Amino acid sequence: MRPARVSTTPQEVEAYEMSAPRPQPRPGVLQIQAYVPGKSSAPGLAKVFKLSSNESPLGASPKAVAAFRSVAETLHDYPDGSATALREAIGQAFGLDPARIVCGAGSDELLNLLAHAYVGPGDEAIHTLHGFLVYRIATLSSGGTPVVVPETNYTADVDLILRAVTERTRLVFLANPNNPTGTYLPFDEVRRLHAGLPPHVLLVLDAAYAEYVRRNDYEAGIELVATSENVVMCRTFSKIHGLAALRLGWMYGPPHVVDAINRIRGPFNVNAAAIAAGVAAMQDTAHVERSVAHNTRWLAWLSEEIGKLGLEVTPSVANFVLIHFPREPGRTAAEADAFLTRRGLILRQVGAYHLPHALRCSVGSEEANRLVVESLRDFLDGKAP
Ligand SMILES: *Cc1c(COP(=O)(O)O)cnc(C)c1O
Repeated sequence: MRPARVSTTPQEVEAYEMSAPRPQPRPGVLQIQAYVPGKSSAPGLAKVFKLSSNESPLGASPKAVAAFRSVAETLHDYPDGSATALREAIGQAFGLDPARIVCGAGSDELLNLLAHAYVGPGDEAIHTLHGFLVYRIATLSSGGTPVVVPETNYTADVDLILRAVTERTRLVFLANPNNPTGTYLPFDEVRRLHAGLPPHVLLVLDAAYAEYVRRNDYEAGIELVATSENVVMCRTFSKIHGLAALRLGWMYGPPHVVDAINRIRGPFNVNAAAIAAGVAAMQDTAHVERSVAHNTRWLAWLSEEIGKLGLEVTPSVANFVLIHFPREPGRTAAEADAFLTRRGLILRQVGAYHLPHALRCSVGSEEANRLVVESLRDFLDGKAP
């Protein structure tokens, strides 16, 4: 019998709640710290620059926006559940077989589906210490155990990853380049990682920032996927294509992995507007080139100018920089964040990535980038915000 009256001290309430019969999530779920997206507003300021989520300062292609609008006439129709037009457009752009592509509601969905398909209770999935947070969430929500491997100079370390592999390992998540560090592994290193993995381990190459990388020794992984049975590559429309609001990503994998993911994904997981805009974005190569050119110029400028202020900037090949702050009071990352926010500059705190003394700053418009450097200078000089 349940008592008619209960005491209400927090401890007793909690004990009562735990004893009451009610649905419990499966093991792992309550271990998850929910993903906290980058802030998007600064109280009381009219003009704000959002530099906290690595969105494109050039926005979406006007052709993608027009395609999005055209879908308004047919909102009553279900989308094409296999996103055929989009898989064909991607296949054409990259020279890939569309049958080996799966589209998702953001690459986040695909990363989660991969974990759900391949990782269960008792299984392990590896990611690195400063690796993208979604890997840990996807692993725990699948009931698996995340295995966290240290990095070297804020960069994934192939030897350390290989040393962490056990017979329980099912998946290795590697963001290349990584967010929030902006560092990358040359493709020889990725090949060495793959060569060292047992064949039952699926290597997930998350190439969300691939388009931005201007390095001769970088590859996103298309050829490795094409020539092996245990590698997939995930890509997104949220960054270079400027379509983050639509939630659109894709993966390229071996047929048996594509088959598994197609069995567990929602039948209409990608909406009609995303499909239409995605096709147009994929075909607008001039827009992509403009975005890359803007990023190449301003990534170098930001890295150099922030470095000149005496702050350490991790060398980045993506569309953001990781800025390290001193630990002395008055100059910390948290204080810099508050200062910049008062000037309408919204950066990303990265404590959840085990980087409590750093801030991540997306490459923004010219105006935003200049304001960031000027404001950091004023912050370090002790000026008022
Ligand atoms: C932004 C990002 C993604 C893309 O996520 P979407 O769900 O496609 O918006 C994937 N991986 C990393 C490392 C990212 O930073």
